[in-house]
Amino acid sequence: MILDPYGFAGKPHKLMRQSIIGQWSVCPERVNLDRHHGGGWSEPRIVGTGYHAGLAHLYEHQHADPFPDHDAIAKAIEEAFMAEVALAKEAGCVVTWDKFGSMSMALQGAQLMAKYYVQSHRLPSEHFNVIGVEVPFWYPIGGGEWVAHGTIDLVLEDKRDGTHWLRDHKTAGRPWKKGKESARANVQPGWYLAFWPMLWSSVTGGEAPITRFAFDVMTYDLKFETRVADRNRAQIQRVFDVATEVAVALDDEAHIFVKNTSHFLCDERWCDHWNRCSFGAGFNNDPTPLQIPTRRPA
Ligand code: SF4
Repeated sequence: MILDPYGFAGKPHKLMRQSIIGQWSVCPERVNLDRHHGGGWSEPRIVGTGYHAGLAHLYEHQHADPFPDHDAIAKAIEEAFMAEVALAKEAGCVVTWDKFGSMSMALQGAQLMAKYYVQSHRLPSEHFNVIGVEVPFWYPIGGGEWVAHGTIDLVLEDKRDGTHWLRDHKTAGRPWKKGKESARANVQPGWYLAFWPMLWSSVTGGEAPITRFAFDVMTYDLKFETRVADRNRAQIQRVFDVATEVAVALDDEAHIFVKNTSHFLCDERWCDHWNRCSFGAGFNNDPTPLQIPTRRPA
């Protein structure tokens, strides 16, 4: 399923994504550097992509018989995982496999997480209809100059009350901190919940459904939890306000992007731009001596 009533897919547009808005909240300079250099590849990203592909295969074949086909899921994971590895290589990006120990252990880790999800946490087909898997959407914002875009991992209809559930699969090295899904900390639910009901009703002609959002978080050592992240109107408005602020900054060639050195993600482990940003590695090692004027300028 694709939600694109205005025909934006595949055409050049200024796309606003939840990942850009989220990055902005961490450090505006990251958004600036991302657009010039792209984001990097990392072990968590590659493992997460593999895991997503496995769960996408699972829900696409929800009604297959026999089910679940673990070999097919493992194969889908391997293909997506290796495709990311190839892209990283092509981009000259060195991936350190320090979380799992090696590339093959990381692949096995992604496959094991998906297997555990299938066995213990799959949302049952007797309660849920799959509406869509990896559903992309496009919607004009900012007078049509920018286009809101996203891809929703999984959309389900609860057969018991008709609620639509937007589910996002996350992988993580450790359980999420308390409140990581909250409206103050996370823009993704607000971004998706803003668009799904109206896009659904404009594409299907049906009434806008009651829609809820949840993160399904799996850790590398197989601890799983679901964090429901509903949003009210003010919380959704805040996401739009930040998106507008980002768009205005990106459209302004003279804009000076704030470097947020005080965020815990401003760290060589978590910032793809650590070595090129003067407030990353260079922040402590700048060899240029401080020029202290000895006389007051006339
Ligand atoms: S190194 Fe720190 S200041 Fe520089 S882009 Fe990364 S997070 Fe921002």
